[in-house]
Amino acid sequence: MTKNSSNIMALSPNTSNKRETVCIFGTGDFGRALGLKMIQSGYPVVFGSRSTQTSSLIPKDAEVLSHAEAAQKAAIIIIALQRQHYNFLIPLAEVLHGKVLVDVSNNLKINQYPESNAEYLSQLLPGARVVKAFNTVSAWALQSGTLDASRQVFVCGDDMEAKQMVMDIVRAVGLTPLDKGSLLAAQEIENYPLQLFPMWKFPIFLSLGLTAFFFFYCLALDVIYPYVYQNKDFSFFIVISIPNRICPILALILLALVYLPGVLAAIIQLYRGTKYRRFPDWLDKWMLCRKQLGLVALAFASVHVLYTLVIPIRSYVRWRISSHTISQALNNKTEPLNTTNAWLSDSYVALGILGFFFFFLLGITSLPSVSNNVNWREFRFVQSKLGYLTLILCTAHTLVYGGKWFLNLSLYKWYLPHAYMLSLIVPCIVLVIKFVLIFPCLDKPLTQIRQGWERNPKYSE
Ligand code: NAP
Repeated sequence: MTKNSSNIMALSPNTSNKRETVCIFGTGDFGRALGLKMIQSGYPVVFGSRSTQTSSLIPKDAEVLSHAEAAQKAAIIIIALQRQHYNFLIPLAEVLHGKVLVDVSNNLKINQYPESNAEYLSQLLPGARVVKAFNTVSAWALQSGTLDASRQVFVCGDDMEAKQMVMDIVRAVGLTPLDKGSLLAAQEIENYPLQLFPMWKFPIFLSLGLTAFFFFYCLALDVIYPYVYQNKDFSFFIVISIPNRICPILALILLALVYLPGVLAAIIQLYRGTKYRRFPDWLDKWMLCRKQLGLVALAFASVHVLYTLVIPIRSYVRWRISSHTISQALNNKTEPLNTTNAWLSDSYVALGILGFFFFFLLGITSLPSVSNNVNWREFRFVQSKLGYLTLILCTAHTLVYGGKWFLNLSLYKWYLPHAYMLSLIVPCIVLVIKFVLIFPCLDKPLTQIRQGWERNPKYSE
């Protein structure tokens, strides 16, 4: 009788307004936090525990029973236990038959076990309907209500109805369920909270490598060279001048690297004549971290702006201006205004300001709260059209900075080009390829390929 009634309960999803009782196995941190949240959302909650004594820690409206008794009261059972204790559920197989078991567990290491905890639970209790959910939400966030950053709850499971019932609970407690498919996805969902900024690794290591390279490059040309050949000590350049060279260089290179994989992908698609073949792995990974590359570039650009703002108060700069003025006074000779220089300097500053403004706009539109409020076409317009405009403005800013010295070989130290010239290589390559790709003879086939056309279709009628 007991078994039959529990099975009927297990098969009937929540169709009325009254909330169904939810059972939680385990009165640990997570079980209690989730239980409290559910009670606050109107669910009757019953805990299944090894000890049926209530304590002040357990939400006061919840019942605490033995596992078997608690399981009989609900169709959905949240298994808030560590995986190593799952074995104790085997004797309860009969009472758990047909129930929706929600696996919330996490591991200590990525791919710690050959199969996911949820699949393991499903193997132990083949009669139960296992759904993976809630593992990305922390007990602390549930208790303190600070769920803004982790409102999304990944849900997966083989039983559609069971998954739907769990997603209803997720919604009811004020979170957003995201269906990740079958139970096969559980491994990925369990690995998710263990990852450490996965998309940021490449941008951060790349920028660290480039920073180190350009630091030593600028140190050699701006500090060591004058010391060796002119016996001048410019070591203080390390504090502001060199960082203020490195920041714009990195901002420009990283911004160009955001757009380089896109043009490479276009070349590959044109060459293959199809979009249905996978890109090489390295290109796939590169494309996935473009947003992070762009944000790191924006951080470098912002620091460059700050360094630039302090230039007038630097002692070295004030000394140079005053000694120039005094030398003019002593020689009784004033320099006439050089209009070309004035044009170059104003254009350089204007291009920098505009470039930074659009760069900032790109950064803002990449925020989820903003990107969720624009449609696909608007997002593409900002990230592609405005993105290229930003790249053009920033490249022009650097080109104008070079001005007339660009081709003056006498200014090269140790036959090495100035660091800003190196920073122009990648952006110029990207802009030239993009310009070539705009030509109708290439743009037209590329658009067709991206709409599904194939030069040599694999499956022809
Ligand atoms: P916990 O504090 O260690 O509690 C686990 C509960 O399991 C204990 O309170 C105990 O409940 C029960 N238990 C312990 N040993 C047992 C045994 N030998 N046999 C049967 N039951 C036993 O763990 P937790 O932090 O609540 O986490 C529970 C699960 O949620 C874990 O799988 C964890 O990965 C997952 N999770 C936790 C968080 C978090 O922020 N804590 C976040 C996401 C997911 P009784 O004394 O009532 O029997």
